Amino acid sequence: MLLKLLREKKLLEKYKGKFKVVPEASLNKLGEVVLEKRVKKYVTDTGKVIWVVVGKERDYYVKPNEYCTCRDFFLNVVIRKKRKWCYHMLAVEVAIDLGFFEEIKLSEDELLAVAEEWMKV
Ligand SMILES: [Zn+2]
Repeated sequence: MLLKLLREKKLLEKYKGKFKVVPEASLNKLGEVVLEKRVKKYVTDTGKVIWVVVGKERDYYVKPNEYCTCRDFFLNVVIRKKRKWCYHMLAVEVAIDLGFFEEIKLSEDELLAVAEEWMKV
């Protein structure tokens, strides 16, 4: 389903190489995350943008092309240097390209309150 969409939008070539190094189970999860719009874009009234992937057990903060707070990122990107991304990072990238994300506008105080939740897990 996701691959079909990417093919239709002529984006498949862009992601082929990146998808190749991610385990298949993660790719399935990536598809679910994007299609279920579990990628959230938090935009504060002061113009800050925070990307978050809502997982089954916890949420992950993602800085596109740079960073993710998940275990896979730490193990396979930071320590083992197997690849440069985890599937959450790819999910955010794909979601941006397809416009498949939910945008949530909030004040900076509200963002900090939400972030407290992210930091608990
Ligand atoms: Zn991740």
